[in-house]
Amino acid sequence: MKYEIKCIGVLTSGGDSPGMNAAIRSVTRAAIFNGIRVKAIYRGYKGLITGEITEFQTQNVSNIIQQGGTILKSARCAEFRTPEGRKMAFDNMEKHGIDALVVIGGDGTFTGARIFAQEFNVPIIGLPGTIDNDLYGTDSTIGYDTALNTIVEAVDKIRDTASSHERLFFIEVMGRDAGFLALNSGLASGAEAAIIPEKKTQLAQLEELVKNGFRKSKNSSIVLVAESELTGGANALAEHMRTEYPEYDVRVTILGHLQRGGSPTAYDRIIASRMGVAAIEALLEEQRSVMIGIVNDVIVNVPFTKAIKDDKPVNEKLLNVLHMLSI
Ligand code: ATP
Repeated sequence: MKYEIKCIGVLTSGGDSPGMNAAIRSVTRAAIFNGIRVKAIYRGYKGLITGEITEFQTQNVSNIIQQGGTILKSARCAEFRTPEGRKMAFDNMEKHGIDALVVIGGDGTFTGARIFAQEFNVPIIGLPGTIDNDLYGTDSTIGYDTALNTIVEAVDKIRDTASSHERLFFIEVMGRDAGFLALNSGLASGAEAAIIPEKKTQLAQLEELVKNGFRKSKNSSIVLVAESELTGGANALAEHMRTEYPEYDVRVTILGHLQRGGSPTAYDRIIASRMGVAAIEALLEEQRSVMIGIVNDVIVNVPFTKAIKDDKPVNEKLLNVLHMLSI
């Protein structure tokens, strides 16, 4: 029997990312366009459990496409990890007449969604909202491009002082265990090296660069470092440098949360808009437990299990480009 969807719930969960609002707008308007009602759920899974739910009309998502963050707020919710918490969430869905969910977040959000969908037979579609770009099955996640541009802007500014004082800067960027932000911001800002968790030999290359005296040809040096236990982070690397190469004036900048904020780039607004529409289309086509991705400019539906578990490799050729251009 065809499962008719009359009303969807939309929520944002996990770390916020620029473009989430564009995704909320798109999901809301695409649903209403198709005659489906929309319930906005606040604070991620937490709001589903506590019943922070309100109906959205098209005007509720006016004037948000250009805003960073998420108007629905985001939260981490330990209770949703328990069967009792998820039962309360399901009861609230029934109470509010919600037939299906669109969840916008990262791998944790999809892990929770997959379990919830299985337990209660709920149709759920995911949209990849994270600056880390660490989800398999999409070339880019919503927010990644904006974060990349924010980092490059910051590095350009740091380069001015690095160059004036002839310093070696280690700049730590987000990404968890993924090196996309560090590698691509390194390329875009003309950095000397990028230390990423996926490639252990980068550290050896950095030593080689230092030993060859990259100060000879340059009056400043920038190294992008992905925050990760695998890289050790910028502080640990800087400490190592200070001990081994005291002739360098070493400084550290940890960019932190400024990478998550700001108005989304055109690219992030566009993919968020396309993915939101695709989420509603997927629900109408009776797709379940899939993340919407865009690969080679084509919309794809990726099962949650694949999006979460499969590795998304960085393009190692880019490391060679960076290396070659850092002479
Ligand atoms: P980001 O990539 O920005 O960190 P995320 O979606 O991975 O985003 P998490 O905090 O890992 O962020 O997950 C968001 C929420 O998903 C959690 O707070 C929790 O409510 C739910 N969740 C995560 N893992 C599980 C799980 N194993 N079972 C049930 N719910 C989960």
